[in-house]
Amino acid sequence: MTTQKPKLAMYWAASCGGCEVSLANIHEAILEVDAHFDFMFCPCLLDTKKKDIEALPDGDIFLTLFNGALRTEENLEMATLLRRKSRLFVAFGSCAATGGIPALANHHGIADVLETAFCSVPSIDNPERLIPGTTCQVPDGELELPAFLTRVLALHEAVPVDYTMPGCPPESEQIIAVVRHVASGAPLPPSGAQIGCTDRAVCDECPREKRTTLASRLIRPFEALPEPGWCLVEQGFLCVGSSTRGGCVALCPTANMPCTGCYGSLDQSADPGATALATLVAAVDPGSAVGVDETALLAGLKDALSGVADPLGTFYRYSLSETVVADRAKEVE
Ligand code: SF4
Ligand code: SF4
Ligand code: SF4
Repeated sequence: MTTQKPKLAMYWAASCGGCEVSLANIHEAILEVDAHFDFMFCPCLLDTKKKDIEALPDGDIFLTLFNGALRTEENLEMATLLRRKSRLFVAFGSCAATGGIPALANHHGIADVLETAFCSVPSIDNPERLIPGTTCQVPDGELELPAFLTRVLALHEAVPVDYTMPGCPPESEQIIAVVRHVASGAPLPPSGAQIGCTDRAVCDECPREKRTTLASRLIRPFEALPEPGWCLVEQGFLCVGSSTRGGCVALCPTANMPCTGCYGSLDQSADPGATALATLVAAVDPGSAVGVDETALLAGLKDALSGVADPLGTFYRYSLSETVVADRAKEVE
């Protein structure tokens, strides 16, 4: 049956599925989505095929929410196809916006990633050390798997993106707000804008009190129970809320967990990891050597920051595809 409603699509590339869960989490508001849109493509919910998308005129899909990073040639092919078929193309979630968790693999070569995933992680039982290739012979014929791209890409690194909706995943309330805004016919933000978020820090939404004290050293969540109501970073927990874009209503600190930065850096021009690190350095007490002895000052800072177990995975958890350290993957290759 044909419909006059604008078409809505949602696609997952290198994705965990959490972005789809976030959409499902809007509960009965999904009826509003149905009232305003023809939700016609979403591989985890609907049986629309790629050939159905290929058959559409270019620009026929009004809005596509594309989640997941680009890890394989198939991801890239679908991003290119959906970009062409969509009027508004949104990088939905941290993986599409900045590479997200999948882009952490950019610090390693592909062979290294495959060896780890299929042979050496403790939960793997693979005595023959079988690693998937791009073709596989089975009784019914030859199967093909899409090849890995050399490095994981954020969506905008491959195709033009109209808007970016950050978050891992984007908060359901923000999804509802964006859907209602688009459905209302209100003017759209300028192309390239971040949507479903604020331009203020998570700290501005956080109910925890800052007492302007310095932490003696940084600790991880399992090392202590936070005191209720008091800023986590002042208690030593590695919370990057002050350098992270708001919009989640400080979801994690409100639930006693430090912000890990999934809404991305407030300052688009800066290196997100370097910004977060600089913020945290300013939050720890380097000891009594301040202003007296540079060697002792650095030793104090080093000790205070020694609790950061995985600096790359901590400070670039969501952004490794587009930071100054991103090209490390090329060296590894
Ligand atoms: S942004 Fe987060 S929830 Fe969405 S696909 Fe990536 S890892 Fe999953
Ligand atoms: S640093 Fe973290 S805990 Fe402290 S106010 Fe900011 S978001 Fe809240
Ligand atoms: S508090 Fe930080 S990590 Fe948690 S949802 Fe908000 S931006 Fe993401």
